[in-house]
Amino acid sequence: MPFSSFTNIECLRVIQEDQSYMYLVKSKHSSCICPSCHTLSHRIHSQYVRSLQDVPAYGKTTYIKIQTRKFFCDDCSCPQAIFTERFTWLGTYQRKTKRLQEMLKSIALSTSCKVASRLSKHLGIVTSHHTLLRLLHKLKLPSYEPPVHIGIDDFAFKKRCRYGTIIINQETRRPIAILNGRDKETVVKWLEQHPTIQTVTRDGSFTYAKAISQALPHAYQITDRWHILKGLFTAIRETLQQSFPSIWRKTEYKNPTTEPLIIRKTDVQRHQYAEQVWQRALEVKEWKEKGKSIAWISRQMHISRNTVYKDLRRKKKEPISRVRLLDPFLNQLRQWNLSGWTTSRMEAELKKIGYTGCRSTLNEAVSRIRHEYRASATTHSLSRASLLWKIWSEKNRNWLDSLPSACLKEFPLIPQLFEVTRKFRNIVSKRSNQGIPGWIETCKMYSFPALDTFITYIEKDLQGVMAACVDPLSNGLSEGHIHRVKMLKRMMYGRASDELLKKRVLIPLL
Ligand SMILES: [Zn+2]
Repeated sequence: MPFSSFTNIECLRVIQEDQSYMYLVKSKHSSCICPSCHTLSHRIHSQYVRSLQDVPAYGKTTYIKIQTRKFFCDDCSCPQAIFTERFTWLGTYQRKTKRLQEMLKSIALSTSCKVASRLSKHLGIVTSHHTLLRLLHKLKLPSYEPPVHIGIDDFAFKKRCRYGTIIINQETRRPIAILNGRDKETVVKWLEQHPTIQTVTRDGSFTYAKAISQALPHAYQITDRWHILKGLFTAIRETLQQSFPSIWRKTEYKNPTTEPLIIRKTDVQRHQYAEQVWQRALEVKEWKEKGKSIAWISRQMHISRNTVYKDLRRKKKEPISRVRLLDPFLNQLRQWNLSGWTTSRMEAELKKIGYTGCRSTLNEAVSRIRHEYRASATTHSLSRASLLWKIWSEKNRNWLDSLPSACLKEFPLIPQLFEVTRKFRNIVSKRSNQGIPGWIETCKMYSFPALDTFITYIEKDLQGVMAACVDPLSNGLSEGHIHRVKMLKRMMYGRASDELLKKRVLIPLL
């Protein structure tokens, strides 16, 4: 029986259809209590049928038709002459049972009302998104215990337009209030109504810091650790942006004093020809030693007799070499190439110092010089992004040894930035704020502009930062709820009112 939780109800008939059940029911009571004067009445005035919807049964929509009676109130002094009988499981003027409304409330709070109405239809509940929206608007904001430890953060109702403030109870881990604004006056007004607060976690906002100091001077303020670390990260990144190229490259030559060996295609051909001639001469000499005549050798080897005579006179292999016009200037070209000169500039200078050759010869020589240098060169490169990541994430100094020495020599700020980062991260991770004044002095000594800005911020909010380094509380909970607010805003498609957003944020989903 689906109405076992409904007291004093008698089921008269059940009509089963394809998609629904219809229950015809009536009350077992013969009397009813007047809602105004609480007098028991037996006199029936009239009766009518109320049509209701209940929670679905076996995946089908459940409708109830209940015979409802009207009674006369017997108390003459009662302003209510006639009243309708009431049921504990049904609100006045309601078309849905209380348990169905609770179910719809949970579904509507879980997602947007349009999606909720589609989901409800799938579950066997007939409703519209307007009904669900009205249901949510009727909900009352939950009450809360006087908070002791709270978190405070801002969020956007509409980005770059209207902002609000969310207050989190750090003990219950629930949001307890949403304020329309993030200005000092709004926050002060709310804080003054809650004098029980002892600890407030917040981000780096000075507006909140001032508001807390004004409204609750005794409260202990804790700046969020993540925001402090983010501030340091930004300072390190900006310092690198100001001082380090996006990609640093340095080419080192293994032996820059060696004169490049220029071998041209024609040189190779000449060498091959000389070898060929020498082999032929050896053969000619061999035949001659065997007693063959010049004419015989000439016929046998298909060469002229003059060539035979020449070959017999050869004493050694003599490569045919030629002194080129460019040869005296090769050293000079190498120097200019190292200095990054263009070929046109080299040509102009060469002509001044006596080069009479053509441009194509020079082009070929320069091309070969460059090719040989590239082959003997080692290029080191380091990107700013990878350097930033190493400075931020490495735990000890060993990684500095793997950097090219030229890079460390050119940028002495790298080990300095690493030391600054490592020391501060140690302070935060070891939960000890003793080292902060010393760390600030070290940073001031290096005087990087972006880091100086961060130091100024730390000094302004020194109490909050010192507390953040030792206290286990942080503003992470508020940040998590801000994330939830953003998700809810997206589900609502930005068209619903701020009040509805507040209800969605503050009312817990049961
Ligand atoms: Zn009455």
